[in-house]
Amino acid sequence: MKTASAPAPQAANQWEILLPTALDHGFDYLAPADMPLEPGTLVTVPFGRSESLGIVWNKGTANVPPGKMKTIARTLTQFPPLSKPMRDFIDWAAWYNCAPHGAMLKMVIPIPTIATEGRTRADAFATHIDTDTLKLASLSGLQKDAATALEHKLTSGFSVNLLDGVTGSGKTEVYFDTIAHALKANHTNQVLVMLPEIALSVQFLSRFESRFGFAPALWNSEITPARKRATWQAIATGEARIVVGARSALFLPYKHLSLLVADEEHDSSYKQTEGVIYHARDMAVARARFEQIPVILVSATPSLESHYNAKQHKYTELSLPSRHGAAEMPDIELIDMRQTLVERDSFVSPPLRQALADSLAGGHQSMLFLNRRGYAPLLLCRACGHRFQCASCSSWLVLHRSKPRLECHHCGHREKVPDACPGCQAEDSFHPCGPGVERLQEEVGKFLPQARIGILASDSATGFAEISQTITAMSEGKIDILIGTQMIAKGHHFADLAVVGVIDADLGLAGGDLRASEHTYQLLHQLSGRAGRESVRGKVYLQSYLPDHPVMQALVSGDRDRFLAAELTARQNAHMPPFARLAAIIVDGEKEDQVMRAANQLAATAPRSPGLHILGPAPAPLSLLRGRFRYRLLARADRKLNLPDIMKQWVQSQQPPASVRIKTDIDPISFL
Ligand code: ADP
Ligand code: ZN
Ligand code: ZN
Repeated sequence: MKTASAPAPQAANQWEILLPTALDHGFDYLAPADMPLEPGTLVTVPFGRSESLGIVWNKGTANVPPGKMKTIARTLTQFPPLSKPMRDFIDWAAWYNCAPHGAMLKMVIPIPTIATEGRTRADAFATHIDTDTLKLASLSGLQKDAATALEHKLTSGFSVNLLDGVTGSGKTEVYFDTIAHALKANHTNQVLVMLPEIALSVQFLSRFESRFGFAPALWNSEITPARKRATWQAIATGEARIVVGARSALFLPYKHLSLLVADEEHDSSYKQTEGVIYHARDMAVARARFEQIPVILVSATPSLESHYNAKQHKYTELSLPSRHGAAEMPDIELIDMRQTLVERDSFVSPPLRQALADSLAGGHQSMLFLNRRGYAPLLLCRACGHRFQCASCSSWLVLHRSKPRLECHHCGHREKVPDACPGCQAEDSFHPCGPGVERLQEEVGKFLPQARIGILASDSATGFAEISQTITAMSEGKIDILIGTQMIAKGHHFADLAVVGVIDADLGLAGGDLRASEHTYQLLHQLSGRAGRESVRGKVYLQSYLPDHPVMQALVSGDRDRFLAAELTARQNAHMPPFARLAAIIVDGEKEDQVMRAANQLAATAPRSPGLHILGPAPAPLSLLRGRFRYRLLARADRKLNLPDIMKQWVQSQQPPASVRIKTDIDPISFL
């Protein structure tokens, strides 16, 4: 980690302590004579004006004048040292993601007091688990085959297993079985199940509890700092045997991790885009490799990368091709919107209206999907054409009606809708353009006034409690029609759901980024998979202006593997991932000329090497965000090149003005 040349041998009691900072290096401290230390030990050290929690990383090598070096305050021996595999993982992840070591450690120690402040007596975790009383499903033939294969993997070191089964095939039951075996094998084994989104954990937790008889430890951004502390400590001491968490749970200091599960592995919420940029699914695979344990990637629509790795036999593929029991896959019908007459300012076509009415009359539930929060994505003045735009972002302000205001969905800026148009002073001239989920709710309420309608959208105002309330109401049959954004697409199991309607199936195809087709396919397939999961037959309606698009055709024909094969060929021809590697550079700052100059300087000093192509700079599609101008460059490299090193050297050689930031995004998912 040190870059200093030929360090002189230092005192035997000098150690480099890594601290949760934004820096790439730790600081050297002296250990008191009677303080036993080893790499990984948790310590507190004086830092700045206060104390900081840190980890003993290496022998110290810094040349600090005698008397200047500070002394370690104390060790936290109630927690085991951070293991060698964990420290190696942190070193590796910092390298791979071009992130400072200190920032990486910040994810291990997310709160400064996480280990130093105590827990309350109420913070109990299920430590002793009676594995004989688990109420696991008795698995069917193919499920059993998959479960047996996974059970063997528990004792054979590192492996990546792709559990690829259609929605409702029992993938969750299969990995529950593996978790039970992991718990049974050893009373210290810990398991982490990662879910991409908080909304998913509501139903998951109650299902988990009914099978296992206890609640797993939960880790996500919604839990309180006190609860985080308690959970972190239980994870570090090994008390918490099963953790269900968001991507950040991957970096916690498990005492004895034995199995990793990443459910919905294709989900792009696994990509963290703020702070340290990383992909939690890829990091899970890496962590499993360092820990020498199995990881299970679970999906009905695996990412192209994972699918490809399975085809190359790097991953073990376990398939569940049909739904459990008598449930069948839903029929998918395309509604060709070019040929369908829809009333003005109406967004639900007559065939879909009919299907919703029939479902309601039959006593079944329906779901309507539209990936747009609020009432309308744009508010326009009919008199002068004025459009309401965010002052700090290159995006329109979204009209909300439930909490009446205009909102920027990029920076969160809010303002009142004015009485008169700022452009021409006309009154009553505003026209909302296009639909958001609130507008759909209004429309459905008009043609089905007797329906009980629920809304599920990831509004900043909606917390975990509100989300879980809506999902519970839907599970209990208290909602007839659930209208929502991508939150409703994932994982949920609503027994009586008969109809799924997609308002704008083409929405994700616009913009044409690398994964537009793949992600649209995954999303629409996941959505379809919510329908008809038990006795009621499911039917899916896709409203599309591009009914001939390969994505729509693959969905209707159900021929997923042909679609994936075509995508793979296209990627290979374009020399794109998984056949090559990408890294993006995002330059941003408050002064556009400075940003542009820094971006041009990057291009002028771009590394040259065979198999490396640099594209850009160009203004980002989202060229202004939170008042900062943004430019992008993209590096595409042959797989054999050491892309993280190339990027790091390149970026470190730059000397932009202090207000300009240069960020590296390895394996970018978003190109905005
Ligand atoms: P997936 O995770 O593949 O979407 P689930 O594990 O959620 O599938 O299973 C779908 C439904 O079928 C759930 O209600 C589940 O409890 C049930 N199920 C699946 N396999 C079995 C089984 N072997 N015995 C009983 N119920 C099962
Ligand atoms: Zn106007
Ligand atoms: Zn904004």
